[in-house]
Amino acid sequence: MSAFSLSGQTALVTGANTGIGQAIAAAMARAGAHVIAAGRSSCAETVAMTGGEELTLDFADPMAARDVFSGRRIDILVNNAGIIRRADSVDFTEEDWDAVMDVNLKAVFFTCQAFAKTALAHGGGKIVNIASLLSFQGGIRVPSYTASKHGVAGITKLLANEWAAKGINVNAIAPGYIETNNTEALRADPDRNAAILARIPAGRWGRADDIGEAAVFLSSRAAGYIHGAVLNVDGGWLAR
Ligand code: NAP
Repeated sequence: MSAFSLSGQTALVTGANTGIGQAIAAAMARAGAHVIAAGRSSCAETVAMTGGEELTLDFADPMAARDVFSGRRIDILVNNAGIIRRADSVDFTEEDWDAVMDVNLKAVFFTCQAFAKTALAHGGGKIVNIASLLSFQGGIRVPSYTASKHGVAGITKLLANEWAAKGINVNAIAPGYIETNNTEALRADPDRNAAILARIPAGRWGRADDIGEAAVFLSSRAAGYIHGAVLNVDGGWLAR
């Protein structure tokens, strides 16, 4: 069997109803995985695409996944759900700080923990966390998003250190500028759109599928010796 095949594997993807999460779910299914599409909104469309199953998971409670992994074998976890709030740092509210940190960082850590509690007993698994260019760069007017995504890169490395020898690969993907709901406002602004495109060596926005295929790779046997990596899938943005 190809080292890139996910045949016989079960993958749970958070925020799988739309955007990057939906594309990851679809790519996993194409690679042969059984996909559990998890979301706070209906994942019916994703289930239709993947032939998998749906799970309601709302990280308004960052501990929401605590019981999701017990009693069944799930081989791959993709922590994709995420939100962003924009405001000048002098005006940024505690509500916007906590909301973003809860979904983007606290939920990611405790979902990894819940996954590992059973995966360690099954002999291992793969975790792919969705980081960001703002795991490396500062950004502007998005303080909680930047803090949370730097945190995602950090805990990806920490968990890799703890679990690599126990059979769990923990890695992350840092997507560049990808065409999703998340970036609709940027693409609709002609000046921002042109400035962003001018700096991307590949000369185009990323597609959600670009991230899906990278997630398949990191979830596959082909990535067996990759631990604690943050893979930039950004059309070359960070190389510039
Ligand atoms: P999106 O289209 O806005 O999708 C975000 C997903 O997260 C949706 O499924 C959303 O569900 C889910 N979500 C939000 N809050 C949740 C909660 N409380 N509980 C459960 N699920 C929740 O954005 P996207 O671009 O696909 O983003 C996916 C990931 O990629 C995020 O972590 C984002 O930070 C990251 N990312 C995106 C880009 C980009 O250029 N697009 C770049 C770097 C990183 P609802 O639909 O119900 O809101």
